[in-house]
Amino acid sequence: MIDLHLHTTASDGRLSPAALVVHAHAAGLTILSVTDHDTTAGLHETQLAARPLGLRVVNGIEISTVEQGRDVHVLGYFIDPGSDVLAAFLLQQHAQRLARAAVIGDRLRELGCDIDVAALIAEFSRQPGKTIGRPQIADALVAHGSARDRTDAFDRLLGEGRPAYVPRKGATLADAVAAIRGAGGIASLAHPGLLDMDDHLERFAGDGLAALEARHSDHDAQTEDRYRSIAARLGLAVSGGSDFHGDDSHHQSGLGTVTLSADDFARLELRARASDRAAAPR
Ligand code: AMP
Ligand code: ZN
Ligand code: FE
Ligand code: FE
Repeated sequence: MIDLHLHTTASDGRLSPAALVVHAHAAGLTILSVTDHDTTAGLHETQLAARPLGLRVVNGIEISTVEQGRDVHVLGYFIDPGSDVLAAFLLQQHAQRLARAAVIGDRLRELGCDIDVAALIAEFSRQPGKTIGRPQIADALVAHGSARDRTDAFDRLLGEGRPAYVPRKGATLADAVAAIRGAGGIASLAHPGLLDMDDHLERFAGDGLAALEARHSDHDAQTEDRYRSIAARLGLAVSGGSDFHGDDSHHQSGLGTVTLSADDFARLELRARASDRAAAPR
């Protein structure tokens, strides 16, 4: 079984990469990709933990971008985690995440939720590979007694349109695709069914997207079919995974419940090989 969308403690997942690999193996996965938000910091540990279990790991990432004022997540697969192009891009992403967290902290204070976002930011600044996002701020709100769980924190405070929501600034989808391709990988548009941006998919394909994540825990069968047809029409491959974060509050999916078929994976891998050949000097 194949799952190409998983999160760890390198970003906002609950399990360390090593623990995730053990759980994934127990659930019957044979190929997996850890796709942490704007970081490759968990990939080495993932590879080390997977090797003795015979699990295959595809190096991955999920990059946050902005299109039309909305958050658009771009998955990268078959990337070289040591790429300088990607590292330089991710440094900017981290700076923007820290700046956004600080503004969210100001908002929360104005709203009377006096959690210490500055301490959280200082903690993340000391761990350069780890990415801070709203889920970790949500955890601080929960610890402070200001929210029941992550979902409650998003629903009342941190989600789009809520009082402590701060729009993201920064990279576009084309920027993320360029960084992923610069690292030798291919890009897939994450959970398009949650985006409501179907009118932009052709443009995104023109920006160098290689695939659409038609299979996702938040897509029903009809949504999956829709993105399979759009992918076929635009000449894109299909990717898929659970988006497992190790908790039950968001993207409710156990490991091994949302998987990608071997055929879909083979087509995705073929595209990665083809783009390698195109990039290779003659
Ligand atoms: P950020 O990186 O700060 O934009 O936060 C986005 C992350 O928050 C994504 O990983 C989502 O999985 C997570 N997220 C979005 N909405 C919710 C929610 N309602 N409850 C829990 N997590 C959420
Ligand atoms: Zn996440
Ligand atoms: Fe996402
Ligand atoms: Fe994700």
